[in-house]
Amino acid sequence: MTIISNDILKAKQLLENDDVVAIPTETVYGLAGNIFSEKAIQKIFKVKKRPHFNPLIVHTNSIEKVEALVSEFPEQAKKLAKAFWPGSLTLILKKKSNIPDLVTAGKDTVAVRIPNHAVTLQLLEKLAFPLAAPSANPFGSISPTSAAHVENYFKDSIKMVLQGGSCENGIESTIIGFENDEPVLYRLGSISIEEITAVIGEIKVKNKKEIAPNAPGMLERHYAPSTKTFLVKDVALFIKDYPNKRIGVITFSKKVLAPNIKKLVLLSEKKDLKEATSKLYQTLHDLDGLELDMIVAELFPDFGLGKSINDRLERATKD
Ligand code: AMP
Ligand code: MG
Repeated sequence: MTIISNDILKAKQLLENDDVVAIPTETVYGLAGNIFSEKAIQKIFKVKKRPHFNPLIVHTNSIEKVEALVSEFPEQAKKLAKAFWPGSLTLILKKKSNIPDLVTAGKDTVAVRIPNHAVTLQLLEKLAFPLAAPSANPFGSISPTSAAHVENYFKDSIKMVLQGGSCENGIESTIIGFENDEPVLYRLGSISIEEITAVIGEIKVKNKKEIAPNAPGMLERHYAPSTKTFLVKDVALFIKDYPNKRIGVITFSKKVLAPNIKKLVLLSEKKDLKEATSKLYQTLHDLDGLELDMIVAELFPDFGLGKSINDRLERATKD
């Protein structure tokens, strides 16, 4: 049976014994293992059915510990770290040679982050090694934002989920790397482009697979419910063509009424993109459990976190 508990020492003991533990962060739950344990890292890939070309994000709890993992820390990266850590920003930096290739998919860079979750920060502080932790879901499916989501996905194939409540931000970290010393945003996420540019000025965005060969794993179909999902400008118009279907609808703040809508979720009545983002995955999990014929989501405003929501919904709706 999987234990769901807030026992940090139990989690520490499992991790020190080359096992994996699901951990809470403010973005989504991660499936964590010691980066220096080949057994633990192999188990992460196996449990998630994640392809080995897809590198893992390394989590730790202090800048000093990050400095022990990287061989270069550009000025712009330092500025970003200072502004956003602990928090939902992942930096891709040149790695030290002791970081195993299994973690970085053989790349000469490593993705690092200091997460902002009290329980996981306490755990990281007690550990003598950093944790590799991709999202705790089978490859391609919706990321988990509660301990129950993780348990539903993995059942008995992991021993413990460290309980940390529901994830405050509810969407993955924003990923930034460097090309010729210039910062490049590889994945839209929990921190908006506007927040990043306020710290370091304009940044190049390469969020799509075809233009981001440096960020493997940016797959077109990802974060997907098993129910067929659509992303449309005008929900009312779109669902008119499906009068006999049972439909789940996700909108930002607008009510839509129609007999074929079995469940309507407004992500934020007060039009707050942060609130909408934090509820997105929970809503997709909930609607996916209702045996609907389809989920129809409304395109979000194209700024701030609206861009990140649209990115995830676009990937969730790809065939
Ligand atoms: P996640 O699945 O949320 O753990 O995110 C991991 C993603 O981070 C990968 O799919 C890559 O896109 C990106 N990533 C991790 N490590 C690297 C790296 N060394 N270089 C480029 N991208 C990376
Ligand atoms: Mg993931």
